[in-house]
Amino acid sequence: QENGHEKIDYVFKVVVIGDSAVGKTQILSRFTKNEFCFDSKSTIGVEFQTRTVTIKSKVIKAQIWDTAGQERYRAVTSAYYRGALGAMLVYDITKRQTFDHVARWVEELRAHADTSIVIMLVGNKADLVDQRAVPSEDAVEFSEDQGLFFSETSALNGDNVETAFFRVLEEIYGVVS
Ligand code: GDP
Repeated sequence: QENGHEKIDYVFKVVVIGDSAVGKTQILSRFTKNEFCFDSKSTIGVEFQTRTVTIKSKVIKAQIWDTAGQERYRAVTSAYYRGALGAMLVYDITKRQTFDHVARWVEELRAHADTSIVIMLVGNKADLVDQRAVPSEDAVEFSEDQGLFFSETSALNGDNVETAFFRVLEEIYGVVS
């Protein structure tokens, strides 16, 4: 596969899931375009965005899928998970409920996605320090229990977004290579 003049060695599909309004779309646009959009909510219809990166001298096209608001209607279908090698499971560190629902999202992944899928639990909105409702330790414990990677990010200021995606892509590369 060709992308301009670059030869693509691998295409990795990564899905972004989690409750509504946790920042999934913003994390995606931070990673693929280095943008944060203050008046977003026009995700409807957009299926995925891509960014090509180099890992261990291999050119990898990351194809990152957004639920496009479908999670509101519990309509995330198995087609969404099909072929996904990685998942970013996002909650909002200021909304306890979004963390309490993470177990359900893990079940959803285990039911619909490949068993070898690499899962990164992402506590987003880490910039809102004064409004924190989920201690990092709770998420660390859950992640260790479930065999997930864990990171706290801010799509707003960009903290850890790149690192979290690279970690997932490197782990996927380790699985497929
Ligand atoms: P989605 O429904 O999960 O795709 O969530 P969005 O990406 O649409 O974000 C929901 C709201 O949270 C929007 O008002 C964003 O501006 C805001 N938001 C997203 N990420 C962050 C973040 O890292 N920090 C802060 N403070 N707000 C964020």
